[in-house]
Amino acid sequence: MGEQYDSDLHLHSQYSGGTSPRMVIREIARGAAKKGLDLVGTGDILHPKWRRHVRRELVEDEYGLLKEPKTGVLFVPTVEVEDERRVHHLIILPSLDHAEELHGELSRYSDDIDAEGRPHLRMTGAELADLLKDHDCLFGPAHAFVPWTSVFKEYDSLRECYGSAMDRVDFVELGLSADSDYADRISELHEYTFLTCSDAHSPYPHRLGREFVRFELEEPSYDVLKAAIRRKPGGRVVLNVGLIPELGKYNRTACARCKRQFELEEAERLNWRCPECGGTIKKGVRDRVLELADLEKPKHPNHRPPYLRIIPLAEIIAKALGLSTITAKKVRAVWNSLVRRFGSEIDVLIETPIEEIAEVDERVAELLKSFREGTVNIRPGGGGEYGKIITEEESEREEPRSRKPVQRTLDELIGRG
Ligand SMILES: [Zn+2]
Ligand SMILES: [Zn+2]
Repeated sequence: MGEQYDSDLHLHSQYSGGTSPRMVIREIARGAAKKGLDLVGTGDILHPKWRRHVRRELVEDEYGLLKEPKTGVLFVPTVEVEDERRVHHLIILPSLDHAEELHGELSRYSDDIDAEGRPHLRMTGAELADLLKDHDCLFGPAHAFVPWTSVFKEYDSLRECYGSAMDRVDFVELGLSADSDYADRISELHEYTFLTCSDAHSPYPHRLGREFVRFELEEPSYDVLKAAIRRKPGGRVVLNVGLIPELGKYNRTACARCKRQFELEEAERLNWRCPECGGTIKKGVRDRVLELADLEKPKHPNHRPPYLRIIPLAEIIAKALGLSTITAKKVRAVWNSLVRRFGSEIDVLIETPIEEIAEVDERVAELLKSFREGTVNIRPGGGGEYGKIITEEESEREEPRSRKPVQRTLDELIGRG
């Protein structure tokens, strides 16, 4: 049995559009360490300047992965690319040399590969998957259900997208608005390992690792990581951790401009045009999954690990203290004392006994407990607006749009304790 590695394999550097200028290796490593992540993707590794920065800042670890010397956080080269149908795919590579080689080959299909961290490629998903047959890498669709840039906004099945290169697909990244209960209602997806990743654009612990995968690896090497994702001996995925899907910003069908939410039939009747403001209505992940689902209920294959639903600690603290913003000084103070005392944000979120958290702050302990038990009330997100945690009273006023997700605790999920 190997050691556990909490891993976030999809994020972006400062060279992708709309990201924080603080997305540099030192800040990512510092944020990852505070969060409690052991392994993160570099993101954007086809970008030449970013690759040079990565080479400069990281050293090769004894098993061949990259390591940030100060924090000991491990990195693996990753990149997200956009194909000609605006579908996003995630690629995980063995080394910077492999990234260099892939950059050379994909340059022929891209005008912005040297300028944009998430390059656009003049090729289809099938052509990309086919080209990758000659490369050692892990490959799969990114945030598979989101309405703007995903495989299922464009196609009704993976086979439709990847065609005869279908066997090149190693995993499906679920995205923030979906979980394995959603995805396992589609039997085509049962054979794939699900990745839960943050797609972070800034290094703060409420972004980085807001979704992550817990791997068990015999050694922290690329080959063992690959074995874990392909479900071969040497490693395995033991846990997917992610946002409660209703908190994702594309969970419900909603107007992209004014955020008003619609039932699917209503949106169809309105021809996807918002009667309130004239904006475009975007199909929510939940409705898209319901369209694609061939199973009445999720049916998890034997290899599927448990899925733990959680949200960033700062958001729990802010809500527990009745503060409207997670950047409030008081939120940061409680966050710091919890993380200093118990090791990392992930430890506080899922491992530390509630009684010990109550010694720091009882209100936070109380709310965290209902999170772990899945009894918190949610106002679902949609149209680009994140969902929110709401009080019992607020939820009674809002029925039936909000609901209580129910989940078992981590100990129950993994049969521990
Ligand atoms: Zn993307
Ligand atoms: Zn609108």
